Amino acid sequence: MDLGLKGRTALVTAASRGFGLATARLLAQEGCKVALCARGEQELAAAAAEVGAAGEEVWGGCGGRVRYRAVDVRDGAALADFAAEVERELGPIDLLLVNAGGPPAGGFDDLSPADWEAGYRLTVESAVGLCRLALPGMMARGFGRIVAVTSVAVLQPVDNLLLSNVLRPAVQGLVKSLSDHAAPRGVTVNAVAPGFHATSAVERLITAKIAATGCSREEVIAGWTGSIPAGRLGEAEELAALIVFLMSARAGYITGQCVVADGGWVRGAF
Ligand code: NAD
Repeated sequence: MDLGLKGRTALVTAASRGFGLATARLLAQEGCKVALCARGEQELAAAAAEVGAAGEEVWGGCGGRVRYRAVDVRDGAALADFAAEVERELGPIDLLLVNAGGPPAGGFDDLSPADWEAGYRLTVESAVGLCRLALPGMMARGFGRIVAVTSVAVLQPVDNLLLSNVLRPAVQGLVKSLSDHAAPRGVTVNAVAPGFHATSAVERLITAKIAATGCSREEVIAGWTGSIPAGRLGEAEELAALIVFLMSARAGYITGQCVVADGGWVRGAF
């Protein structure tokens, strides 16, 4: 199936690892020009080289088709500056992956007012800021795809991830509201809600759980997979394939959705 993505320009945030990197790699394989940002310069440079190599087959040499810059998504001015460079060097942003590191773990008694504010800035404010940068141009040109990475926490609270349980639904509210606004102009806005996937984010949760409970790594993982009907963690590439489909020309009639990829973990029929 031709996804109709060749030549499109994509901005992928939090792209040095995990879902962001897997999505950037797949987009390059589909012939997109890809801009990546994340916090750490060194890891991001290696990720960008990997993404460039993934696009070699389509482009026969990717020089000039990949851009990257170390930008923290909480820094709106730096994001705006990078987006302007991307539009200058690669072309108008057609595809946007709204993604960031997750807010820290913790329950109600663990979180200070400062933690709540920092969580809001990381998860909600950055999503709003990214949409403000990309959406007006997409609507003016009559095509665009925005996909936000949220979490199954949108549908079912996850133990000890209170910030995520509270703040991710706000991003879903943003997605649904913007989708109404954007749909008449050929722009779709969706969210993907991943369950437990084998990325470094989950490695950090495993380490924290081992420290808190004294359980072994195998016991911690089994504690999760025991409640996942698929009986395993997901892979970043599986979520990336869903994201890239939602960004494709083929997915033009899907908007305002929260698409869950959790191996069946959420206990709800809808
Ligand atoms: P990951 O740890 O593998 O990668 C995180 C990426 O985010 C890295 O590239 C890092 O540099 C970047 N990053 C972190 N904070 C940033 C910031 N402030 N500005 C810019 N870049 C930043 O994580 P992942 O598994 O790919 O997770 C991505 C998102 O999905 C996170 O919000 C995570 O909480 C959420 N999520 C993950 C899972 C899972 O099981 N992996 C499940 C549900 C939700």
